[in-house]
Amino acid sequence: MKARIGLEIHVQLTEAGSKLFCGCKSNYRGMEPNTNVCPVCLGLPGAIPVPSRRAILLSLASASAFRCAIPTAIVFTRKHYFYPDLPKNYQITQYEKVGGAPVCSGGEVEYLEPGSWEWRKVRLRRINLEEDPGRTVYGEGGILASSHALVDYNRSGVPLLEIVTEPDIPSPRDARLLVESILLTLEYIGAVNPRLEGAFRVDANISLEGGDRVEVKNIGSLQDVEKALAYEEVRQRRLLEAGGRVERETRHWDSIRGVTKPLRHKETEEEYLYFPDPDLPPVIPGRRLAEEARALASKTPRRVLERITGLGVKIEVAWSLVSSKPAAQLYLAAVERGADPWLAARMLGIDYKGELREAGRDPGDPGNWPSLDKILDLIGYVERGVYPYDTVKGLVLPRLAMDPGVPLREVLPEAVTDPGRIVDEVLTSEPGAVEDYLRGRTKALNYLVGAVMKRAGGRAVDPRLVRRLLLERLEKMRGGGG
Ligand SMILES: [Zn+2]
Repeated sequence: MKARIGLEIHVQLTEAGSKLFCGCKSNYRGMEPNTNVCPVCLGLPGAIPVPSRRAILLSLASASAFRCAIPTAIVFTRKHYFYPDLPKNYQITQYEKVGGAPVCSGGEVEYLEPGSWEWRKVRLRRINLEEDPGRTVYGEGGILASSHALVDYNRSGVPLLEIVTEPDIPSPRDARLLVESILLTLEYIGAVNPRLEGAFRVDANISLEGGDRVEVKNIGSLQDVEKALAYEEVRQRRLLEAGGRVERETRHWDSIRGVTKPLRHKETEEEYLYFPDPDLPPVIPGRRLAEEARALASKTPRRVLERITGLGVKIEVAWSLVSSKPAAQLYLAAVERGADPWLAARMLGIDYKGELREAGRDPGDPGNWPSLDKILDLIGYVERGVYPYDTVKGLVLPRLAMDPGVPLREVLPEAVTDPGRIVDEVLTSEPGAVEDYLRGRTKALNYLVGAVMKRAGGRAVDPRLVRRLLLERLEKMRGGGG
């Protein structure tokens, strides 16, 4: 029984700056309830919506990144329903069956399958640009038992992309990879900060051969996309194998119990009373806006990945960088300033990212990464042999992962500032070993390296550098003596 999965992903354009039709902020987090509001997003009579240029730009850039043509016009429609968190009693969206024109029809999303390292494709049906409603907050006991409900309109009117895929997705895992890829792409083009609480929600539909389609609502995290669909896949399979029927229905994902449950009646299309919004004339994207959108859309994770593998970095390591945007940015900036592409990839993509994971810190958060100067200093120390890579890896990276702001001099062991001088001292104080080496007993070199390390007395010095300095001087002696 093969599964067919389709997704409807709602992503806030958190980086739009303002709400979709007024100047209130797009990122309302941390604000007192009902302070990020105005007559437009409160739906007061006579208030007229004005589309935000940046929200339109970011939605077009998203469409373009997912291989949609920039539309000739965006036409908004009203979708009516009555709920306390929707003050106008309608949501502004783009329903094409009543003359709406979405920001994207068709298109496709690619995602990388880590394992085979193949790019897989899922067709998109459309992308709408719409408003997020406000938030209803219940007291103790939740929606069923609370004595009251509070409404916060800070979120009301925040621009939201509704991304709808065709039911092309073969497995719950592929569904998670797809959502990850969509969020990463939107993060790269500067539209969304996916780490903000509530920045995205997923509704999924899944059917097995021989069964009807079931919609699962209210999925709020990447892990839950896979968990909810895996649960639903097993539930439907058992039902069909036992000779039962899977009915068409809508279910609710309960992330705490890890189960899906039947949901009450949902409005049908007719009940929404869709029609074009008379307050909003069609938005016709001009050439400049379209060009700006395409420029933003060119910064996709796949392009960045290709750039890094083009520097000779293996795809596994390159993807480790690309899958955390701050890592990829830091990496490319370091390489641009002359850092060795492989050394930088190893330090940032493998070892530092590994330390962040170990410390339970999010590698996608720019605040968890050290400054470019610090990284360049560390790479420079390794390249010049001031510190061996293992010292940086073992002593410095774990400390920075806990506190990226800590000064390097507080973390690094004291270094030998002039290794050449210690090498010369050892060559003078160990004439026997020097003689042995010059007579062809090459093992004497190891003894001399050890003697230099001992004389360094616990200060850091790269043994490879010591070996090189010793060899240079010994060969010179041999040349001078012969
Ligand atoms: Zn407002």
